[in-house]
Amino acid sequence: MNKSKVRVRFAPSPTGYLHLGGARTALYNWLFARNQGGVFILRIEDTDRSRLVPDSVQDIIQSLEWLGIPPDEGPYFQSERREVYAQKAHELVERGAAYPCFCTPQRLERVREERRKAGLKIGYDRACRNLSPDEVKAKMQGGQAYVIRLRVPLSGEIGFRDFLRGKIAYDARELEDIVLLKSDGWPTYHLANVVDDHDQGITHIMRADEWIPSVPYHILIYEAFGWEPPVFVHLPVILSPDGKGKMSKRSGAFSIRDVRREGYLPEAIVNYLALLGWSPGDDREIMSLTEMAEAFSLQRLSVRGAVFSYEKLLWMNGEYMRATPDKRLAEMAMPFFKEKGYNDPQTILKIIPLFKDRAKTLRELADISGYFFAEPDSYDPDGVKKHFLRPGVPELLRELAGRLAGIDGWNPQSIEHALRELADERGIPARDLIHPARLALSGMTFGPGLFEMMAALGKAKCLLRLRRAAEWIEKAEGFK
Ligand code: GLU
Repeated sequence: MNKSKVRVRFAPSPTGYLHLGGARTALYNWLFARNQGGVFILRIEDTDRSRLVPDSVQDIIQSLEWLGIPPDEGPYFQSERREVYAQKAHELVERGAAYPCFCTPQRLERVREERRKAGLKIGYDRACRNLSPDEVKAKMQGGQAYVIRLRVPLSGEIGFRDFLRGKIAYDARELEDIVLLKSDGWPTYHLANVVDDHDQGITHIMRADEWIPSVPYHILIYEAFGWEPPVFVHLPVILSPDGKGKMSKRSGAFSIRDVRREGYLPEAIVNYLALLGWSPGDDREIMSLTEMAEAFSLQRLSVRGAVFSYEKLLWMNGEYMRATPDKRLAEMAMPFFKEKGYNDPQTILKIIPLFKDRAKTLRELADISGYFFAEPDSYDPDGVKKHFLRPGVPELLRELAGRLAGIDGWNPQSIEHALRELADERGIPARDLIHPARLALSGMTFGPGLFEMMAALGKAKCLLRLRRAAEWIEKAEGFK
């Protein structure tokens, strides 16, 4: 394998849906691979069978696809490589870097408890570390179950270099003889992770900084095999919006499927996530994947945790909505309209230009434009007080409907002309007609420019709704 070619991986455990933090890790790996002309690998670390969430693999794959950052290779599944890990674990035993441990779970539990009470940090007393070859042989022949543990040095320092943080060292006395291979033959994270990073030719490991404490163990495994470790790049955490701690489910950490359902655009998500811990080195904020890939460098990653801001994400999404061509936006918005029972592509395409500046998400787009598909089923109560319950309004609305019925051509200019003419004749400001008309047509007090909106809504619907509103007002409580 060509050693100089960058090969990076995203290695999630399928224990849940892809969340924003995981997506950012995947994104940085993807951007780095693109920037370096390298390869981005997806590896599913599914060795902890008790924590598997059945459809999470599917979710991870689909979410990466949707975000526009699919892997170049994989997914590889660790569950398909069990023999490899078992063989490697035994190789470590032969090399003297690991040993079989026959302690029963009951004994381990008891020892852990005793040692905890005695204030000892290390939970295992290393009882099997120095069994003689004969003792081991006898126990194995007797069919005793065993795990394989890493033989951690009893003293000294185990250090490594992190690309962003420099040298990190651990006192060997703080480290445990961790399990590499379980008694059922399944590897632990540590063994499978190191073996795969080596076998898959990974050159750089970019992952969340919560994995730093695992690295000294991994270093020992690399050394025992005589393998060269990859470059380690541990990414800072994403802090919850209040800046007080790590983003967690409780502080509202979304999965990618959540934000997708909320109507965010993938382009906005990847742009926003990229800037949570990386910057292009100039003041650009809105950047496409291609632009980010061009500008990406490990040097410009930050070590400080970045605070997640929903407002900023929403703002960015609004920017992307505005910049997206109408036709594409209509396609993307389709599921949100369908969800509401609005299934008319023609109308959707027609109203996109009216609303794309106003809606910050696709969901909001469908929420605020419902009156194009169905009669408004109520009128905004504040609007009613302000604009409907005033003397003369029903008559004005009827008159407006009458005038509009007679105009030639149905377009924003002709509608505006008719409305302003009526206002002038009555000696009232145009807004005294515009506000009630908007409420009558949409049920809302805000929205796109009234004349454009009316032109798009169509003559028949406008006349009908103006007249209906007039009747409604006359029957309304509080109207004299
Ligand atoms: N399987 C680990 C996880 O779920 C991967 C850690 C790593 O990238 O080495 O995050």
